[in-house]
Order: sequence, then C-alpha cells, then structure tokens
Amino acid sequence: MIKINNLSKIFRTDLIETHALRQINLQVNEGEFAALTGPSGSGKSTLLNVLGTLESFDEGDYLLDGRSVKGLSDRELSALRNEKIGFIFQGFNLIKDFSLFDNIELPLRYRGFSSAERKRRVEHALETVGLAARRDYHPSQLSGGQQQRVAIARAIAGEPRILLADEPTGNLDSLMARQVMELLEKINQQGCTILMVTHDPDQARRANRHIQIVDGQLNDATLYEPLIAAGA
Ligand code: ADP
Ligand code: MG
Repeated sequence: MIKINNLSKIFRTDLIETHALRQINLQVNEGEFAALTGPSGSGKSTLLNVLGTLESFDEGDYLLDGRSVKGLSDRELSALRNEKIGFIFQGFNLIKDFSLFDNIELPLRYRGFSSAERKRRVEHALETVGLAARRDYHPSQLSGGQQQRVAIARAIAGEPRILLADEPTGNLDSLMARQVMELLEKINQQGCTILMVTHDPDQARRANRHIQIVDGQLNDATLYEPLIAAGA
C-alpha cells in the first residue's frame, strides 16, 4: 500500500536546515491500523504529510500502491491523493457556516461527482459515523467528539484506501477520544488502512502495529511487529 525507501526530508530556511526525516524505511500494508508515536518535533506530522503527498521530500523514494510519486506533476499528485488518501487532523477544520451535510459534500463537489453520487456518499458516511439524524446541524451545535466524527465522515466519503490521522483525539476528553478510536477501528475493519499519530499509549497498544519515531528516525525494532504478530 505504502512503501518508502531511504526517505529524507530537510526544511531549509535562510539560517537553518532541519533534518525532519532521516533515511526512513517503512512499509504499511493493506488493512493495517498502525499507530505512530514520538516526542514533539520528532517528525510525525512531516511523515504523515509526505505520505499524504502534501509535502515533498528530498531523498529516497515513495511508492503509493506500487507507483512512485516522484516526478508526478501537481495535477497528477492531487488526483492520486483524492483517489487514495483521506486526512483527519487534530483541529477538525469544518466550515462553521455549512451544515454537516454540506461540509462532507464539499470535497466531492471539487472532485466533480454528480449530485446523486455526492448524496449517496454523504448519507453513507453520516450513517457510518452515527450522525445521520443531524445532517442539517451546524458544527457549533455539536460536541468536539461529534465534530471530529463529521471530519471523519468527510474523509471517508472520498472512499480512500488509506486514512492518515494526525492526533485525531488530541483535542478531545477521554470519553470522546474513546468513541473516535472505536469509530476508526470500525472503519479499519471495513477495509480502510489507517496510520494514526497519537500521544496516547493506550491507543498505540490498541492499534495492530506501533511505529516509533525519534529525531526523524524510525525505531527499526517496531518495523517487524506485523511479522511477529503473524507468528513469522
Ligand atoms: P511532530 O509532528 O512530531 O511534532 P513535525 O513533523 O511537525 O514534528 O516537525 C519535525 C521537525 O521539522 C521540527 O523540528 C519542526 O520544527 C520542523 N518543521 C516542521 N515543519 C516545518 C516547516 N514548514 N518549516 C521548517 N521546519 C519545519
Ligand atoms: Mg505534529
């Protein structure tokens, strides 16, 4: 699904170079629910953004579904991203003046789906996250946990192969965090691969794989956990 080889990312400003990712090797397989943890500033968001093709990289290669993203034009990249990847962020990034339905529908409009197809997808996504009855509500009428569920609905309405979640429960209390985690587990069981950044050790344990990053380097020992779990 995702394969990166010796990938490095350097942020350059006039004064400093920050080596945010150092020669990373990682493979995420179809159906996995992987948790990514590490100290603040260790490169978690950068890795997610590179995997999401929102951020470029300096060295190495990245194959998404067997296809190298190197050398793709911006247009090709955004087509690939729209087709394969969904994002969830710590802040829910919902549009205040839009209903839940309209929030979820907006990216589908950009992608040019027919109104019937948009409606089918939005209704299905609202069902999945348990908010079908509130389709005409506005985000301010919801709790933080419900708002994150709307953001998840917006992501899955794109029918992505992989969901990239950057601290999706970071702004939530523990009850709401647990509900969001259970929802992500359900979406994973329905076949969507998930890579989630988290600070919560309990969440990392619940995922079926735990990857650690420190100072832009992955902890190699964790790379083989799926093999160990499979008894290899
Ligand atoms: P994390 O998500 O683990 O907290 P980040 O991936 O956000 O870490 O950041 C990794 C390193 O890259 C940090 O040193 C951070 O300051 C730096 N960094 C992140 N984004 C940028 C940017 N746009 N420009 C310059 N440096 C950045
Ligand atoms: Mg971060």
